[in-house]
Amino acid sequence: MTRFVMAIDLDRCLGCDACVVACMTENQVPDDAGARLRMREVVMGTFPKLSGEFRPEACFHCDDPPCVDACPTGATFQTIEGVVLVNEDRCAGCKACMTACPYGMRYLHTEGYVDKCTYCYHRLKEGRQPACVETCPTSARIFGDLEDLNGPIQQAMANARSVDRVEAIGGATPSLLYLNSRVLGSRRSLGEENV
Ligand code: SF4
Ligand code: SF4
Repeated sequence: MTRFVMAIDLDRCLGCDACVVACMTENQVPDDAGARLRMREVVMGTFPKLSGEFRPEACFHCDDPPCVDACPTGATFQTIEGVVLVNEDRCAGCKACMTACPYGMRYLHTEGYVDKCTYCYHRLKEGRQPACVETCPTSARIFGDLEDLNGPIQQAMANARSVDRVEAIGGATPSLLYLNSRVLGSRRSLGEENV
């Protein structure tokens, strides 16, 4: 069965925000409402011995997502490929899902419904890549089917020094994979952490 996931090679990410801008443009995210995608700068150590990395963040399309369970109208749901979506027409704007998401990956759109990363589902249906993936100038973003053993995700994982998942919190198990993190420490390798 297909399981769409995103992997980000942190060695390649420059923190240039091209993906952030592409996401806002593609999905017409209102400037003053929130963001589907944000850039986090992570710094570790003490001066002058510092190291760090840019870590883009968006909805992690978790396994067992608590946002889905919290939604009283069924507006938030997960597709068979693991993509968590919001049906705008069914959304009451009650923000229960925003409260339930331990990572703060949702925002209230100016039109009254809750919005978040969809992996550009409208593009996936046309066989295209998410806008952020297509735009990244360093090809730091890799998107595809985790279950495809010859696909880009498995290939990127096999070539990476390390593979890390965001820590599971509150029952949510993020699917986003960070490759080659200098900060996360990378104790995890293929097969050890259910990736
Ligand atoms: Fe839901 Fe938050 Fe997980 Fe996205 S990151 S699936 S909004 S719990
Ligand atoms: Fe569901 Fe919308 Fe309420 Fe979120 S804000 S819980 S998507 S109805």
